Amino acid sequence: MATRAPIVTRFAPSPNGPLHLGHALSAIVAHDLARAGGGRFLLRIEDIDGPRSRPELADEFRRDLAWLGLEWGEVPAQSTRLASYAAAAEALKARGLIYPCTCTRKAIEAAGAIAGSDGLIYPGTCKRAPPDPSFPAAWRLDAAKALAETGPLVWEDALAGPQAVDLSGLGDVVLLRKDLPASYHLAATLDDAADGVTLVTRGADLFAASHVHRTLQALLGLPVPRWHHHALLTDENGQKLAKRRGSPALVERRRAGEDGQMLAEQLRLQHLRLGT
Ligand code: GLU
Ligand code: ZN
Repeated sequence: MATRAPIVTRFAPSPNGPLHLGHALSAIVAHDLARAGGGRFLLRIEDIDGPRSRPELADEFRRDLAWLGLEWGEVPAQSTRLASYAAAAEALKARGLIYPCTCTRKAIEAAGAIAGSDGLIYPGTCKRAPPDPSFPAAWRLDAAKALAETGPLVWEDALAGPQAVDLSGLGDVVLLRKDLPASYHLAATLDDAADGVTLVTRGADLFAASHVHRTLQALLGLPVPRWHHHALLTDENGQKLAKRRGSPALVERRRAGEDGQMLAEQLRLQHLRLGT
């Protein structure tokens, strides 16, 4: 059998709020996949959400992971990497692959945008009629132009199998926010490449984003990892366990004296039961 390079996985939480059970599952799945493959498990703090980002939460995240019995290596937080995002964004601008958009959410709704797999699909208003350059703008991927340039692309999910890139579910996503030289999509894609991540592990709620990330890898000449989107935890009624509903945050359970390694074992069992 051919030997594969050891896998590098990561857990990439945003310090906008405390970690919940779903995060714990993502971290455990990534950790265990790395462990099983003799590879590395990385923690990356995705702290570029401006005022929503609370740096003090990152320390609690580290305590939560240790409490769950996980070991990790940490890579630099996103807030220290803005220059690399800006450089990639400039390159995309120069190639005409992103365009400025000054639309507010209200304007997008008013323009009759339809719902995609993750919110409204941008109806292309500012692509058809470029906005006044004196207004602050977000920059959106010109999905049609991008795919015309890359040609057909595929990516591989460990559970769902090969996927043909299809950007129609997300449309022209924002790659640079009005306030930042990046968005989640651009920053995470660049960082996964910079961090040598070979297996992107995260919840199935981010499945559609991988079509965008695969496109960015092709456009920017980045290495292409594999993906592992794990099933989301559900409650007794089969409802998805959204982070703001229901169960207490990990930090609360930890402070209440619960055994974190026992909790991790329970999550591993639930994960097996979900089949993924
Ligand atoms: N920072 C993202 C979040 O907390 C996760 C990003 C990822 O795993 O790609 O939702
Ligand atoms: Zn617009």
